[in-house]
Amino acid sequence: MSLGCNFEGLSTVALALASHTHGSFICWLYDIVSVSTFVVVGGDAAGMSAASKAKRDDPEIDVVVFEKGQWVSYGACGLPYYIKGEIQSLDDLVSVTPEEFRQERDIDLRTGHEVVDIDPDERVVTARSEDGDVVQPYDDLLVATGAEAVTPPIDGIDSPGVFTLGSMSDGTELREYVGRARAEGDLQQPDSGPACQFLETCSGPVGIVGGGYIGVEMAEALAANEFEVHLFQRGDRILKQFSEATSEAVLDHLVEQDVAVYLGAEVEALAGEDRVEAVVTDDERVPVDMVLVGTGVRPRTDLAEAAGIRLGETGAIETDASRETNLDDVYAAGDCAEAEHVITGDPVYVPLALTANRHGRAIGKTVAGEPTEGGGVAGTAAVKAFEMEAARTGILDHDRARAAGFDPMTETIDAKSRAGYYPDGGTVRVTLTIDRPSGRVLGGSLASEYGEGAVHRSHALVGAVTEGLSVDELADYDLAYAPPFNTTWDPVLTAAKVIGGRR
Ligand SMILES: Cc1cc2nc3c(=O)[nH]c(=O)nc-3n(C[C@H](O)[C@H](O)[C@H](O)COP(=O)(O)OP(=O)(O)OC[C@H]3O[C@@H](n4cnc5c(N)ncnc54)[C@H](O)[C@@H]3O)c2cc1C
Repeated sequence: MSLGCNFEGLSTVALALASHTHGSFICWLYDIVSVSTFVVVGGDAAGMSAASKAKRDDPEIDVVVFEKGQWVSYGACGLPYYIKGEIQSLDDLVSVTPEEFRQERDIDLRTGHEVVDIDPDERVVTARSEDGDVVQPYDDLLVATGAEAVTPPIDGIDSPGVFTLGSMSDGTELREYVGRARAEGDLQQPDSGPACQFLETCSGPVGIVGGGYIGVEMAEALAANEFEVHLFQRGDRILKQFSEATSEAVLDHLVEQDVAVYLGAEVEALAGEDRVEAVVTDDERVPVDMVLVGTGVRPRTDLAEAAGIRLGETGAIETDASRETNLDDVYAAGDCAEAEHVITGDPVYVPLALTANRHGRAIGKTVAGEPTEGGGVAGTAAVKAFEMEAARTGILDHDRARAAGFDPMTETIDAKSRAGYYPDGGTVRVTLTIDRPSGRVLGGSLASEYGEGAVHRSHALVGAVTEGLSVDELADYDLAYAPPFNTTWDPVLTAAKVIGGRR
């Protein structure tokens, strides 16, 4: 929130009056007559949340958003399901259109404008478009430039046929690839592609490098389109942010779904003549027609760094609890920024959509005159893998827990998802990690069949982790119960009782 008394932009009348009056009155007058300008760099979750909230709370603020692409307020999270074919159009992933932002929310949204410079001394940004450069003054500035997909430095990573999935245009390319390959595969039936080993019909073998949530979601999307999916993970388990028990459950399910999972596989090259033809690991060469690289993201910080905005140890932009950077009235939020962990208070980098929306909204409120923090993160995440769902929150890793001064212990239970007599139930696997001496709940991880509630159950654990509850207090949570949804003691409560009894 800009509280300084900056005379640029004062109207002539105000200046005339101001020249006859006392300094504090001038500032007061400035506040009355001047229009403050809030400039946002990046038009997705964090940027548009901030822009919309600022404008809603104070319609007098001029809000200018620069977005280098053409899409704004889009849900990249839906891209795997667009590629799968469950969502028919990229437009369906857009929650508010550019026209709605401009016409209904009165936001000066400029797509096709890349901000190439921030000058904090002059309080201006320079944005570049096809029509040339524009210099835009700001009173408050938000850097919401997001993240970009990381590609490991391996031979062949730039070959045709190698994709990442970080943007709407990546989604378009992948969907086109899927459509083309399926059409060609149909023509080749019943023999299908030359290297298909274990599917009756096949659009071709494909490789996925990385067993994180994007790799797992894309395994589902590609398998649904009859690709033979080979997933390469360098560590000893997939979904390594989740508990080992959750990783194991999802791994077993991927294998049941005919995904070939290569654990401990260090991909050394993506080989091929004119395009990718094989994934080469330290001990295997697997023929593929296409490769998706899903090895994580890095915060997009070049613009901020060049302006003197400080980065934290995680490599993302450092902010205080109000999301303000080291520069006055310059904020950062979303995938380009750090956030503090709810347990340790330490800065962490957890680039996920709700944090971007929450922190963007908090900045919008602050800029509109109501200083707001937006809260820390618990590292809560969810993933769907074919017919399974999984979620995690808090600290599960024992080394990390010890580094934060805890003495961790972990237990896992399997429990029925619905009353035993109620049809169609399944199993919920719950892992809890607690601090043994105090019983404090540090983290949780859950897996179940899709629709059997692992993800929604995790919300109770988020509450326990965030509020610093002990496992006994969690076991006393008054959760809802009815036979179609759970057992009288929900699996979360059972897990709390079990681990509480073993401390
Ligand atoms: C395939 C996929 C699946 C995902 N699934 C989930 C999920 O299930 N759950 C979840 O919580 N999160 C998920 N995410 C992450 C989620 O999409 C991000 O956390 C969220 O989009 C972050 O929003 P943001 O506004 O910080 O950044 P972004 O969405 O990256 O937006 C940043 C914007 O800034 C623009 N920009 C960058 N530099 C400039 C510049 N110099 N000038 C102008 N504009 C600029 C970019 O073009 C971009 O539009 C997923 C992401 C992907 C890619």
